[in-house]
Amino acid sequence: MENASGVAQLILQLRGGANIRGPQNYAHSVEHGIRLGDVAAELGPDLAALTALYPDGVARFWGSTPTNQMNNYKARALRDRRVGDDVLFYADTAFFARARILHLLHNPAAAKRIWGTDDDGRTWEHMMALGDVERLERPVPAAPILRRLGLSVPLRSLTLATAADYATIQPLLAAAGVTPREPTFTAPRKMTRKRLFKALKRVVDACHGQDVDPSARRLPLTVLWNIGQIASADGHPAEPQHLRSDLESILQRYDATDSRPGDAELSGKLRDSGLWEIASSSELWEVDRSGLHGRQRSDRRAMDADVPLIGFASAVTALLGDPETQGRAVAVLSPALPVDIDKAAFLADVGLAGYDSASGVLDAEEVAGSEAGDQGPARRKTVQIERIVRSSAVAEEVKRLHGHRCQICDTRLATRFGFYSEAAHIKGLGRPHVGSDQIDNVLCLCPNHHVQFDAFAIFIDSDLVVRWAVSGEKIGKLRLHPKHPIGVDNLQHHRRFCGKAD
Ligand SMILES: [Zn+2]
Repeated sequence: MENASGVAQLILQLRGGANIRGPQNYAHSVEHGIRLGDVAAELGPDLAALTALYPDGVARFWGSTPTNQMNNYKARALRDRRVGDDVLFYADTAFFARARILHLLHNPAAAKRIWGTDDDGRTWEHMMALGDVERLERPVPAAPILRRLGLSVPLRSLTLATAADYATIQPLLAAAGVTPREPTFTAPRKMTRKRLFKALKRVVDACHGQDVDPSARRLPLTVLWNIGQIASADGHPAEPQHLRSDLESILQRYDATDSRPGDAELSGKLRDSGLWEIASSSELWEVDRSGLHGRQRSDRRAMDADVPLIGFASAVTALLGDPETQGRAVAVLSPALPVDIDKAAFLADVGLAGYDSASGVLDAEEVAGSEAGDQGPARRKTVQIERIVRSSAVAEEVKRLHGHRCQICDTRLATRFGFYSEAAHIKGLGRPHVGSDQIDNVLCLCPNHHVQFDAFAIFIDSDLVVRWAVSGEKIGKLRLHPKHPIGVDNLQHHRRFCGKAD
């Protein structure tokens, strides 16, 4: 049986004696099960994922009290166990039942509600949600197995056997009649660019049609915010403190469906954003529900241990580290943004300024004489300034070769002082494109086609056919000049920002 990290590990789980209500607790929360509706308030953000795992609404739980040790058997088991691992329950020198981990959660409130507290006031807050629970026909004597694993007899603590150790005791288990079961949990498939865009397309589709859940409309905003975090952090995922302040303020500013002022708790806010529901059903997201994992990674996160962390899955973050993939994602998601928001301002606010224009954004200091403090989004100002900056020798050469005729429509615009055309960089000079000012990166266009090319309304396919970005319909063919080569990589870059796959 496999899990996300490879092969299953084995958790050796003490049930505990009557002194700590072990048998009663096992019968109550594992065999009988807990109705999710009875602990809905305590489960909070975990409720959605658990509801998906237990369609009949009855979940099987077991829990562990916290440990102060950093590196004993219990601490390591709590830290390293994974969804998909197998569990053997132990009592009275034998293993008597087995199960599989479906979900891990750190939730003192739910644990207290289910099991109460022990004599020291602690509760079994490090919780496993279990599947495939099965009482063994004959209890398996534990001593030979524990010895094979190099453990003391009897078992004294929650213990994790690595996948390799698990393999060494399989023959002993098989001899006792405990044979491996077919996995019910399928390992996630490898994330590819194709799968990423399928998942993004589902985000867009969820925003269309009648009776759209308001939370679905917030998702494109949230996804784009996450992409902006990656774009502005050179591939590093968002830090949780940004999640607290920035996303919340973005949703407040741009999400008209949210009528409440910002008094809601963050976790509720994010829950309303649709993230929790989507996280349990979409491979885009990764949820860290474990306080232990948080403590390992950074102290800051430990303070938020009760607020599960959520973000792009690491494979998604890796794919989106590439600016062309970011650009294509922005193009795919943009139509799903609320119609009444200023998309350029929104993209600038989430760190994606320039992603909606082929020329991109130049830093203010690169543009001599640019003035700060104008009204309106900065992006529009810089695009205009760039038109002026562009009058390079390369641009003049391209316009001269084509005699100022548009390479798309052949228009030659007459003015009183001669013909007028514009040099369009295919891969813009500004961020995020950072193209070069070379002849194979420049087109000679009329102002109309320049605007449409710059705004990703039209693109040029690999056969040099000019097409509408939305419909793919043919507009014409790009006219070439023998002394004016066109960089196919540059055209491909532009296509990706139009949302095209190749
Ligand atoms: Zn034209």
